[in-house]
Amino acid sequence: MSYPKIPPDLQPIIDFHGHLCPGLVLGYRAAKAGMKRIHAMRSKDEELVAIVENDSCAVDAIQFMTGCTFGKGNFFFRDHGKHVYTLALRPHGRGVRVSLKGDVFREEERDERIEQILSMDEKELFDVQDVTVDLPQQARIHTSVPCSRCGEPVMETRVMEKDGKGYCIPCYHELP
Ligand SMILES: [Zn+2]
Ligand SMILES: [Zn+2]
Repeated sequence: MSYPKIPPDLQPIIDFHGHLCPGLVLGYRAAKAGMKRIHAMRSKDEELVAIVENDSCAVDAIQFMTGCTFGKGNFFFRDHGKHVYTLALRPHGRGVRVSLKGDVFREEERDERIEQILSMDEKELFDVQDVTVDLPQQARIHTSVPCSRCGEPVMETRVMEKDGKGYCIPCYHELP
């Protein structure tokens, strides 16, 4: 059994994620499929947004390859348990939806499955559709106020109130 051949542009993603696994390779293929299509429709000044519908290893490849990250507020997780990856452009929401086709995997063994995902034709692996999506609001910066119990600063919009005092969420849940 030979170890799967690693394409050069996959290696930095493995380094980022910490290991090579079928999920990561699936995300790598999905990001490639989506990015190819979005490059064709993207113009200057349009910001790329990624929406993922699972929180598996695959989404690390999506973050790495698209540059969309949780911290920047252009990466969104919808907990649907599906291998569906949508890349869209701000502000208009035009984009591409990449979804894994059903019953595509013949291989059960891990390395063989990685090999299979790497070598499969894109059209056999995914459905790729042009879509227009309603994009989530851009993150705004809010001022912070100190929690009345622990004193740590809390973003204004997350403060919980009780008896005229403001608390952070963990403290609020511990109030008598
Ligand atoms: Zn993994
Ligand atoms: Zn607190």
